[in-house]
Amino acid sequence: MTHPKTTGHIALVGAGPGARDLLTLRALERIRAADVLLYDRLVDPAIMELAPSGTERIYVGKDVGACKWPQGRIDRLIVAKAKLGLRVVRLKSGDPSIFGRACEEIAAARAAGIEVEIVPGITAASAAAASIGRPLTERGETDTFVITTGTCKPGDAAPDRARLAHPGTSMAFYMAVERVAQVQADLMDAGAPAACPVEIVTRASTRHERHVATTLGALSKTIAAEGIANPAILFIRYPKSLARALASTGAVIAA
Ligand code: SAH
Repeated sequence: MTHPKTTGHIALVGAGPGARDLLTLRALERIRAADVLLYDRLVDPAIMELAPSGTERIYVGKDVGACKWPQGRIDRLIVAKAKLGLRVVRLKSGDPSIFGRACEEIAAARAAGIEVEIVPGITAASAAAASIGRPLTERGETDTFVITTGTCKPGDAAPDRARLAHPGTSMAFYMAVERVAQVQADLMDAGAPAACPVEIVTRASTRHERHVATTLGALSKTIAAEGIANPAILFIRYPKSLARALASTGAVIAA
């Protein structure tokens, strides 16, 4: 698809988890054709290098002082740039549709009558699962895969994690390192066994990638002892075979 320069266009482009060869060809096309690129701290510099040298680059990360780039300011900027007739590419780590605050930017574009497109990307959980060689679902063991977060909008209640503490569930927790004690307590209070296997993958697909294996019962302690920091994915599994094994020993488990 080509976009005449006069109309302006916004593309929310998935930059993938880090490694530049996990970018889609469509994402690469949009980056190469962009007049303006907006990016944040999770977008790898190697991906920014794919843009032509004349492309305007605007850093809209939230780490340089949380208030510098509040979401509303980003929304206004992408709309203002598109109204100038520019092709605006808003790069978002992973897949823009997963914990990417894409809805706000889509709404701002639509309200201004600007065409907006989403280019999907490889989400961190997919990349992390590939790195550790453990698929997100396993036939006979985990038939439900849940993408969830440790951190919600300020003021919102935490997700009801009792819904997740059931045999056959495979969970990928985003933004959970700082809330790990609560995640662990919520799942265990709801009946998930301490023996549920956990894998932690930090900075998946980058040269700083790290893996740590632990269990649900030891999760908080492991995070502290290993000095695990964001960005990280916490995989927590409650395999059916674990439920069966505990049931056969008479242990109390979630229904
Ligand atoms: N849209 C992104 C998620 C953004 S929310 C996606 O689809 O991947 C930010 C969270 O994503 C981080 O706190 C971390 O939990 C996770 N994350 C992003 N990149 C990661 C990476 N390379 N390795 C591990 N976790 C990552």
